[in-house]
Amino acid sequence: IYTLAIESSCDDTSAAILINDKVLSNVVAGQPIHEEFGGVVPELASRAHQQNIVPVVDVALKKAGISKEDLNCIAFTQGPGLMGSLLVGGSFAKSMSSALQIPLIAVNHMKAHILAHFIDEEGYDKPTFPFIALTISGGHTQIVKVTSFFDMEIIGETTDDAVGEAFDKSAKVLGFPYPGGPLIDKFAKEGNPKAYQFTKPKVDGLNFSFSGLKTQILYFIQKNVAENPNFIEENKADICASIQQTIINILMDKLKMAVSETGIKQITIGGGVSANSGIRKTLKEAESKYGWKTYIPKFEYTTDNAAMIGIVGYYNYLENNFSDASIVSKARIEF
Ligand code: ATP
Ligand code: FE
Repeated sequence: IYTLAIESSCDDTSAAILINDKVLSNVVAGQPIHEEFGGVVPELASRAHQQNIVPVVDVALKKAGISKEDLNCIAFTQGPGLMGSLLVGGSFAKSMSSALQIPLIAVNHMKAHILAHFIDEEGYDKPTFPFIALTISGGHTQIVKVTSFFDMEIIGETTDDAVGEAFDKSAKVLGFPYPGGPLIDKFAKEGNPKAYQFTKPKVDGLNFSFSGLKTQILYFIQKNVAENPNFIEENKADICASIQQTIINILMDKLKMAVSETGIKQITIGGGVSANSGIRKTLKEAESKYGWKTYIPKFEYTTDNAAMIGIVGYYNYLENNFSDASIVSKARIEF
């Protein structure tokens, strides 16, 4: 089965071709335009998607070495995401499925971040059901109990900011360009994670809160810079390592709680923030420390990509779960 997958929920235009559960091509066109604004500008994002979508799909087909007539189905991101961005990918997918007379499959972006683990890769061993998925991205922070490809339940989520926002907003306070998450990761490698202490928010159950942490970091930096204007420059690595460690501790506390509540010890991570090297290392260590089995996706399948949309498309194709042409994109979408 050849699947064409389209992802356009935020600021990356991506197209992938899969043969069954294997990826033949996964093309991602980023949008550097947003950097100068310190965040994604929705209006500019939809315009860039419109410029990129046709060439990106062409390149994906070429790299896969197939022609569009070979395709068996088209999967696309229905939501959640930015409406103007979703509409570009959605309309494109609809038109193409209608022109080629092949099934259309609408995919939930957050479920795709979770199911990216089922992309068949040599040497990557896939999770078995049930497992606990920690989805950490620019817009979401969720703990999901996954019972099958189609049966998932959110058992914890953020009540305010997402983990990615906590990273990016902290980075902004430090004067780093957007998105600053990867830079915090980079500088943290050289720093002492115990140099500064930040308090963890108190949130009941499996839910998260990150907005207080951002404010705490802002005050901490303002206070220290007032005393020493070179504070950030002189202590960059230690500050980054301490911020990152606080976030890791928050995530690990809730994961431990999720494991004890569900009895499930298989953990997967997904979403852009799972590219973070500190989080990856901590989860690997949790295998021997707590007896968990942890699954850490390949880097290219953590941030937004169409391959993860394609794998969900493939499993839906096998079940004949198709969408009709009247399907609409949704900025917010029930799980
Ligand atoms: P959502 O999936 O919720 O719709 P999104 O698609 O915008 O949000 P992703 O592309 O999945 O988000 O993730 C982007 C986020 O990941 C950004 O906040 C970015 O800073 C963060 N991020 C990427 N790499 C790292 C890293 N190494 N360390 C920390 N954060 C990172
Ligand atoms: Fe995403």
